[in-house]
Amino acid sequence: MAGSTPSLDKVVALLRRLPGIGPRSAQRIALDLLLRKRELMPQLAQALEQAHRAIRHCTRCNNLCEDELCVLCSSARRDRGTLCIVESPADLLAIEDSGAYSGEYFVLMGHLSPLDGIGPDALHLDLLEKRLQEDGLQEVIFATNSTLEGEATAQFVAALVPERIRVTRIARGIPMGGELEYLDRSTLGRAVHGRGALDP
Ligand code: ZN
Repeated sequence: MAGSTPSLDKVVALLRRLPGIGPRSAQRIALDLLLRKRELMPQLAQALEQAHRAIRHCTRCNNLCEDELCVLCSSARRDRGTLCIVESPADLLAIEDSGAYSGEYFVLMGHLSPLDGIGPDALHLDLLEKRLQEDGLQEVIFATNSTLEGEATAQFVAALVPERIRVTRIARGIPMGGELEYLDRSTLGRAVHGRGALDP
């Protein structure tokens, strides 16, 4: 680009390949690094290189980790009888943050999306099937997103679960503090259908 330099152009072009970063944001981040946070640049490069070298997939749950097994799979405190299936590491972190779950996870690293050419091969199902054969597994909870792709993925993967294992889906419904009149009708409808006992 006129007025730029080849190295700056290269940084901008790479930043633009990241999700949610358009041409202007990429330029702003690159200039900010060069002009105001120059000392961050070698640190950032080193951290990226280190992460690239060290981070791999857990051989049990497919989440990201730096050893053979991730921290959750190595923990003796997790309930091995329950397996929660999520689409991404971010979803796993969100459920962990909720503090409501103490079982194990499996991270699909995506969802089925035929239009984008993403089929079952992308979901690491061979690893999941191995996990599903383990003795002691009593429940598989589907916590895929409440989107068309998330629902289709849950349906597809649920067919792989052996019959002796209970299959559940996380509830959909009203958010905490939500007021009914402002909710979209489909969420409200699902909340009515998925109603449970009144908490004591
Ligand atoms: Zn793991």
